[in-house]
Amino acid sequence: MSYQKYIETNRKIADIGYSIALLSWDQEVMMPAKGAEARSSQISTLSVIAHEWSTDERYGELLHALAEDKSLSWEQKRNVELSLRDYEKQKKYNSDFVKKLSQTISKSFNAWQAARKANDFKVFAPLLKEIVALKREEAEMLTYETHPYNALMDDYEPGATVAQIDELFAGVKVSLSEMLDKINQSPQPKNLFAGKKYEADKQWKITQELLKKMGYDFDAGRQDYAPHPFCTSFSAKDVRVTTRADESDVFDMLSSSVHEGGHALYEQGLLEENYGLPAGSAISLGIHESQSRLWENCVGRSEAFWKNNFQLLSDVFPEQTKGLTAHDAFIADNIIQPSLIRVQADELTYHFHIMIRYELEKRLVEGSLEVEDLKDAWNEMYLKYLKVKVPSDNQGVLQDIHWSHGSLGYFATYSLGSFYAAQFFNKASQEIADLDKMIERGNYLPLKNWLNQNIHQYGRLFDASEICGKVTGEKLNFKYFKEYLEPKLAKVYQW
Ligand SMILES: [Zn+2]
Repeated sequence: MSYQKYIETNRKIADIGYSIALLSWDQEVMMPAKGAEARSSQISTLSVIAHEWSTDERYGELLHALAEDKSLSWEQKRNVELSLRDYEKQKKYNSDFVKKLSQTISKSFNAWQAARKANDFKVFAPLLKEIVALKREEAEMLTYETHPYNALMDDYEPGATVAQIDELFAGVKVSLSEMLDKINQSPQPKNLFAGKKYEADKQWKITQELLKKMGYDFDAGRQDYAPHPFCTSFSAKDVRVTTRADESDVFDMLSSSVHEGGHALYEQGLLEENYGLPAGSAISLGIHESQSRLWENCVGRSEAFWKNNFQLLSDVFPEQTKGLTAHDAFIADNIIQPSLIRVQADELTYHFHIMIRYELEKRLVEGSLEVEDLKDAWNEMYLKYLKVKVPSDNQGVLQDIHWSHGSLGYFATYSLGSFYAAQFFNKASQEIADLDKMIERGNYLPLKNWLNQNIHQYGRLFDASEICGKVTGEKLNFKYFKEYLEPKLAKVYQW
């Protein structure tokens, strides 16, 4: 009886959460500009309700009682355990702090936008200082072992610690620097697709086709345009993706749609009957990102993928692709070029953008770096690792939205996603006969089903390291990323 009550309560809380998500989707995709003010108050009202319901004392009592209930199945017990963990974490926040943080975030977001306009970090710095101070306070409030940054990472990647990430990134840095040195000494291949115009509506047609081929269910989702592509979900039966068009770059929209499609397959792969329960939601941002990057990179940037999809590209853009081949597309899609902007970075140098941000954030939170010195530290690290000189704050320390939103502890999940992706893909290649041939034939369903079965269906029942162990037989291991990327680059750079 009381487990039933638990399910009902969770579903109601989820109804509110997903309603907020729908309002936010609409805000990004459909809403006319003048709707902004009312929308922000609608979202804020619902957020207060969601918070009240999920921290209600009676809900807490129910969770505590169920935690003692010996009659529950393993899965029921696990759901309760995770809900209780979420509940107790929420209870640690006092309402004064929550109010102050949300006010500071909204001021800081405005300051960040003004700073972007002025191309001047100094405009944003005072507010960022307040954000960092509040984040330090938050870490103390949540309590932590060994490092305050652990408490902040817990929001995005439960279980991840500074000790683990430091060790992982130390190896990543050495390994990727070696690869980058080799690339710098090799002649840079030419992107034969550059310098031409690719109409957005035609690119759109290709992405719709690719999403269909991946097994994205258009009866349980849709694709729209948004300035910053994202995937959002209101249940496993309504999972939406967005994309953007750059008419000078035919690969940008394509890879962005396949990326968001990978996120969407995860959400569509959660079990409908687990709506509102931990078992019905994704494990962590790192595991979520592993799904998008597996499709975007391991599949979408492979030679097998291009052997199959070049025809689609040349049917839609016959003039622009005249005389070019699948191999040319594969090469152009895999050129490595150190650059200033994270979201435009290639598959290799991307991780330096992440490691720089991780290092800086960690130091801000532990107090070994102050906001006043952030810009210089940023520029030094870009010079050191990527050998690029940052010409302006907009192309440097001001480029990401995360800090203005108070999202400290987030960045490492992007890299974790790539590394998990390579490890999962390696296992899938062993377990699915002729996976490469299947991709070459455009048959992605065995891979989608494998991911549904091994990862998606469990939701949060296993944590990130458990699912990694269960699927691949070992914990996260960077060697799979290296073993995946190096042979591909050897082809591109003819080593
Ligand atoms: Zn993503």
